[in-house]
Amino acid sequence: EYSESQITYKLKIIMLGDSSVGKTSMSQMIENPDQEYISVDSTVGFEYISKVYECDGDLVQVHLWDTAGQDKYGSLSDQYFKRAAGAFIIFDISSKKSFESCKGWHSQLKEAGENSVEVVLIGNKVDLEDEREVTFKEAQEFAKEHSFSYIETSVMMNKNIMEAFQLLINRLIASL
Ligand code: GDP
Repeated sequence: EYSESQITYKLKIIMLGDSSVGKTSMSQMIENPDQEYISVDSTVGFEYISKVYECDGDLVQVHLWDTAGQDKYGSLSDQYFKRAAGAFIIFDISSKKSFESCKGWHSQLKEAGENSVEVVLIGNKVDLEDEREVTFKEAQEFAKEHSFSYIETSVMMNKNIMEAFQLLINRLIASL
């Protein structure tokens, strides 16, 4: 256990992406990595999950924010973006439309005006390989264009979820 005064850094991470790409499922998996996959059918208003990491003797507190359903309306309040240090932009590899939306989510992030937000692009639901509509290559090219990292995940298979989280944390810590 730790006390507030021991925290050196507080990092806010936000999740961006169309409704039903898997944002809530993913943040729940990050919060409780050992839990069985639980299917969720709607995003019900929780604000963020909190995790504390030790990094070179410093305690880093991470707040991971979920959109709490606002994603359905295609835009998010300024409050959501405020002081974000990092962002996951998530799409579903079996939905071209959700990939196309990533450009818009990135624009909103830029318009919100937070400086130098580290971004990891996530192609989720790789268990749906047979229904894939977005190639690894095109997603990677989009990521490269904007200096994002790209990783493919499956919450259902518990594949690469903690790796994706770690990737963003590492980028953030390197930028501190
Ligand atoms: P959100 O609206 O972006 O928060 O998405 P949810 O987390 O609510 O997930 C939407 C639906 O996709 C739910 O039925 C999840 O169970 C399902 N889902 C989430 N991740 C995966 C995955 O990796 N593979 C598959 N096949 N389904 C997933």
